[in-house]
Amino acid sequence: MIHPARLTIATVALVFAAELGPAIAQTSLTSGGPVDPALIEDLVAANRILAEEGVLDAYGHVSIRHPSEPNHYLMSRSRAPILVTASDVMEYDLDSNPIDPQDRRSVIERFIHGEIYKLRPDVKAVIHSHSPAVIPFGITQVPMRPVAHVASFLWVGVPVWDSRDAHDPASAGMLVRNAALGKSLASRLGDKPVALMRGHGNVVVGPDVQIAVRRAIYTEVNARLQTTAIAIGGPINYISAEEGTARDAAATDFARAWELWKKKALGK
Ligand SMILES: [Zn+2]
Repeated sequence: MIHPARLTIATVALVFAAELGPAIAQTSLTSGGPVDPALIEDLVAANRILAEEGVLDAYGHVSIRHPSEPNHYLMSRSRAPILVTASDVMEYDLDSNPIDPQDRRSVIERFIHGEIYKLRPDVKAVIHSHSPAVIPFGITQVPMRPVAHVASFLWVGVPVWDSRDAHDPASAGMLVRNAALGKSLASRLGDKPVALMRGHGNVVVGPDVQIAVRRAIYTEVNARLQTTAIAIGGPINYISAEEGTARDAAATDFARAWELWKKKALGK
């Protein structure tokens, strides 16, 4: 028997739910149903691609909104992204409760995902990374702006979120370890594709997982290039709002990049 002092509030709640009977537990935590294996394969590929491209290391995570239950999302259990397989993928509700956890451990910062999906119906994929080159733009007064056409989507602006802005008891720990912190971050992201997290990393969203991956990779690339431009010195001729708007509306040839990245990451 577990000593009562070791029980967390969450554990007590789970024990309570179990004692109330399976009917109640199942009502609130029912799966959104089966998911196309091709979509799961893209999610697995996204984890590995982002690790291969230096955006994710042992940490960071990728999720997709459940295709037939918009109030659920899918994300790997707590595992280094380069090692993620289809069997690691878990389902969560938007309060970031796992639907069928079994003995799998959830990532601490999953609240980033649930709270963004709540506020952004247009978002179908969320990436949280410790993308190293973006860190300086979260701790200085220099805003991140697009310097290369591949990152032109940044023309709308890149907000910076500081965990201390949430005024949460857990703020000083810097990790998004509860819904209040996740909601604060989601609010700071607003309608943008990328938000920086001061001294921590960033969050990148997209209308599908492939576009979110592209944005995460080129946000990291842009951060390196902008830092180089600043080091060279003098005025910087950034990508303009007019150019960013035009590129947002233009057809892209992104399929060939995804094919390459996926082949490298999955070996097929
Ligand atoms: Zn993190």
